[in-house]
Amino acid sequence: MRILLYRGDGITEPWVRDFSNALPHAEIVVWREGMSLAAQPRCDYAVTWAPTPALLDQLAHVKAIFLTGAGVDALLKFGDALPPVPIVRLGDAGMAEQMAEYVAYATLRYFRRFDDYELQARQGIWNPLPRRDKADFTVGVLGLGRLGMPVLRTVRQLGFPVRGWSRSARDLPGVECYAGMEALDDFLAGTQLLVCMLPLTPETTNLLDRARLSRLPRGAYLVNVARGAQVAEPDLLALIRAGHIAGATLDVFRNEPLPAPHPFWSEPRITITPHISAITLREEAVQQIVAKIERLERGEAIDDVVDRARGY
Ligand code: NDP
Repeated sequence: MRILLYRGDGITEPWVRDFSNALPHAEIVVWREGMSLAAQPRCDYAVTWAPTPALLDQLAHVKAIFLTGAGVDALLKFGDALPPVPIVRLGDAGMAEQMAEYVAYATLRYFRRFDDYELQARQGIWNPLPRRDKADFTVGVLGLGRLGMPVLRTVRQLGFPVRGWSRSARDLPGVECYAGMEALDDFLAGTQLLVCMLPLTPETTNLLDRARLSRLPRGAYLVNVARGAQVAEPDLLALIRAGHIAGATLDVFRNEPLPAPHPFWSEPRITITPHISAITLREEAVQQIVAKIERLERGEAIDDVVDRARGY
């Protein structure tokens, strides 16, 4: 068996080692930009993250493409240029716990006003602020998927009222459930802290624009851990400056790394992290991909196959 590996960051050695240990009979073929594999035997599987157009030419004959992440937008953007083989995302693979930690921290930080106290402390101000009441602080999670559900459960366990929004209707105990575009405005109107956990698709691109963000109650807070292109960045900034949105914790941006002159950098009510809310854990990822390859080789079905028509 031959497995094509492409890593945009160029760090291939530990991946090759882990795959070779787990599949001693497989040959791991590291692909680099500019390389042609035409003269070599075909690869059976490909493992990649964000491929380049040149990589697509090497994928025509693989049996499946495995992504080393949960988001699939970086691959699906190639549309019809992709070979008609299963595209498989990572399932949880240790990401849900990280995501839940990140969102729990961002929620508590805003709810307990640590962001205000950090700003006050820098100015030497000792000033207890009015406390917020949990009963009036509903956390709304957009996207109830493999990562969205654990996030919602964690926030609920902290005692916050929670509501969730998905494409298909849900009935979850203790959660106010909303589904579809027609329910989005109502969902937003009762959300004090909005967590975006949606995949990036044509429907979710620019979903959080001025009109939608304005539906949130005055003083609402945004946590975006999904994809930057879901938020209209100038609209968010304008609403923060106007005081309608209190602030935001953002892990993802339209352009990454966030460019140096971007106004988000100098806005004290925006907390920026460099796309680290849930990083891929290599050992878990390799273990999961290998288990799926073994199932496919036995002719068995696997989870986490991307629905191309849906976009996630
Ligand atoms: P899933 O694919 O498991 O779930 C997606 C959820 O979003 C589902 O509940 C789905 O609804 C809902 N959804 C999708 N489209 C719509 C729509 N148009 N309207 C309403 N609801 C919609 O995703 P995950 O939970 O695994 O991950 C979410 C995203 O998080 C990833 O796509 C990725 O972009 C991002 N991510 C970010 C990371 C980071 O470090 N910042 C790391 C990992 C992932 P339904 O249930 O009805 O299908």
